[in-house]
Amino acid sequence: MPEFTVQHSYQGLPASLFEPCQPTPVAAPEWLAFNQPLAEELALPEQYRASAAGLAMFAGNSLPDWCQPLAQAYAGHQFANYVPRLGDGRALLLAEVISRSGQRYDLQLKGAGPTPFSRGGDGRSPLGPVIREYLVSEAMHALGVPTTRALAAVSSGEQVYRDEPLPGAILSRVAKSHIRIGTFQYVASQGNKGLLTEFADYVIARHYPACAQAPQPYLALLEAVIAAQAATVAHWMSLGFIHGVMNTDNMSISGDTIDYGPCAFMEAYDEKTVFSAIDRRGRYAYANQPAIALWNLTRLAETLLSLLHADQPEAIAMATAALETFSQRYQAAYLQRMSAKLALVPAREEDEQLISSLLQLMQQDKVDFSLLFYQLSLDTPELAGDLFSDKHSWQQWFSAWQRRLAGEALSATQRTLSMQQVNPYLIPRNHLVQQAISQATEHGDLSVFNQLQQAWRKPFTANPEYAALALPANEQQRVNRTFC
Ligand code: AMP
Ligand code: MG
Ligand code: MG
Repeated sequence: MPEFTVQHSYQGLPASLFEPCQPTPVAAPEWLAFNQPLAEELALPEQYRASAAGLAMFAGNSLPDWCQPLAQAYAGHQFANYVPRLGDGRALLLAEVISRSGQRYDLQLKGAGPTPFSRGGDGRSPLGPVIREYLVSEAMHALGVPTTRALAAVSSGEQVYRDEPLPGAILSRVAKSHIRIGTFQYVASQGNKGLLTEFADYVIARHYPACAQAPQPYLALLEAVIAAQAATVAHWMSLGFIHGVMNTDNMSISGDTIDYGPCAFMEAYDEKTVFSAIDRRGRYAYANQPAIALWNLTRLAETLLSLLHADQPEAIAMATAALETFSQRYQAAYLQRMSAKLALVPAREEDEQLISSLLQLMQQDKVDFSLLFYQLSLDTPELAGDLFSDKHSWQQWFSAWQRRLAGEALSATQRTLSMQQVNPYLIPRNHLVQQAISQATEHGDLSVFNQLQQAWRKPFTANPEYAALALPANEQQRVNRTFC
């Protein structure tokens, strides 16, 4: 059995990149959830699992000596406005754990009290956002999307004040790192090329070691982050996921999905869908996500210019050429995912037309995104026509799809099998997340939260027990707004 391996590599970086900071103990912590499979992967010792020592650690009340808590510094563009100093205002990095598979993971407490970056905030989190992040990040992982994970959630026994008093909670987050585009912005803003070089080298060694061997390591790093984020955003789009707050401080350098604030999954297909209550102009609407990812990556490229070339116009030309690959990378990844959803494998360029005409029809008839693709994956895909009111257009599209499928040497069984691997039966529907939050917050009842955790572990498996969870919200159930 491999040993539990803990390191603190971030602390080897210059001290201006973080502030050591202890968590603030809470009154009466209790378990909300603990992720055994993830604990297993991290080889976390039994004594920190469903135990008093585990509870004290995950509440921030008493840390084992292998934890050396610190708050990371970062900057960021929030809704396109640059904020030079954000940082972990309610999060603390405890340690880096080397998993059984050799992957380095940050172990972070979120909501463990104020830090030097709290800017007047309380450093705490209400129970609702903890439940949302726990449920949705774990569901995203089960759906195969690169993401941070949730290891534990505990209630604090204290109230936090937002517009009203709410029960408080603390989430333990596990991530390949918490280095964001905003971290590069913070480092570059120091105007110290040595510091920037050291940090970029750290990031290459940690996330993209192959770049160290490239003829231009920092250009290779930029290209690697562009590739990772293009792939992740294409994956989001193929599932109807709307991140909701794609500020540069919420875009991870590893390409993992991070910061499950106001996120939600689209139901009725509409490109303009926005859930976040604070996103009044729809900057982070569903269809804007690829363009915003490119906007954010452009901010990353700006931070790397001085490392790309001594001559600035030359550096800009290099960065521009790298950024220009985003569209092609994104389109290729998107086409590959969307065509797989229709069993068009290998994808052909003309499949784009078939995909976009389906999306147009879905938009026109406000068809549920996940339900439609799931129904198309069944033995009787023609029944999906019930979801459309424009029967004529549907029939035309369906015939075109059938003709295209006839060109592939795929049996009907192979087709349904391959489609069911990419078109989930269950997604974290927003009204269900909201039910889990309301039951827990208003009644201290974790039964919905527990049921959803269980159900969303296997999103591609049709299970009659969860039939109600597979359906879109009805008029009374629908929840169109999310709050950070
Ligand atoms: P977010 O909207 O989660 O991306 O957070 C943006 C910034 O606000 C980050 O620097 C957070 O650490 C900080 N922040 C958010 N909530 C709080 C809070 N309750 N107390 C202190 N800082 C916070
Ligand atoms: Mg954030
Ligand atoms: Mg957040």
